Amino acid sequence: MQIVRFQTRELAPQYGWKQDNVIGRMDGSPFCGYQRLQAEYPLERVQLLAPVIPGKIVCVGKNFPEHAVEMKSESPKTPILFMKPPTAVIGPGKPIELPPQSNQVEYEGELAIVIGKQGRWIPTDQVREHILGFSIAIDVTARDIQQADGQWTRAKGFDTFCPLGPWIETDFNPFDALITTHINGQLRQMASTRDMTFSPHQLVAFISSIMTLESGDVILTGTPAGVGTLADGDVVRVSIEGIGELITPVVKGSIGLGYWGI
Ligand code: ZN
Repeated sequence: MQIVRFQTRELAPQYGWKQDNVIGRMDGSPFCGYQRLQAEYPLERVQLLAPVIPGKIVCVGKNFPEHAVEMKSESPKTPILFMKPPTAVIGPGKPIELPPQSNQVEYEGELAIVIGKQGRWIPTDQVREHILGFSIAIDVTARDIQQADGQWTRAKGFDTFCPLGPWIETDFNPFDALITTHINGQLRQMASTRDMTFSPHQLVAFISSIMTLESGDVILTGTPAGVGTLADGDVVRVSIEGIGELITPVVKGSIGLGYWGI
């Protein structure tokens, strides 16, 4: 099933579910029980929002060996973690805003895990019960700032640096799905999730050995090789087989431009 967040002219932002190209409302929430109401809103007449408002976003660095090579480093022995603030999230179709502080903003297409049930010290064989589903994200990165700072909060934490969506797919096999990234229609990244150094389930188990994972938290699982720079006017399309595609335009930001909202 596909879980969405959406709004219309009449309806405030809320969770829903999608069948073919029609959205239905949800009575309740995907995190504490719900009933699906009738699908009655055609997709083209609703605005899809980021499918979840995460409490925290935990990201994994260098989780594809070929990407570690292109970054001129080795695959880590234990997962490298960093975090993005929830204010970085934007929904499908909303633009990445290139901040005036950077001259080298890059895309990283990634599989996103959405936690459904809280857990700490989750054993690998129980991870599945804690995952609500999977989505698509772009780990937008100001590479020049990342290299200048040595740690990554500023480089990866700008508003709009975490496009997420278009929905949460609950029926998805994360172990062998193709991830591709196109920039303006040109293929730039392509790899299977089976090429990850640490699998999605290993990552959830590992992260939960450090911090409690709560419902709605999002984990970005790392990007394949082929990262590159974004420019004003570009369109990023990240597709994951079995989920769908997330299409995100790019605009030049300016000093004083406000928060886009999620
Ligand atoms: Zn990344």
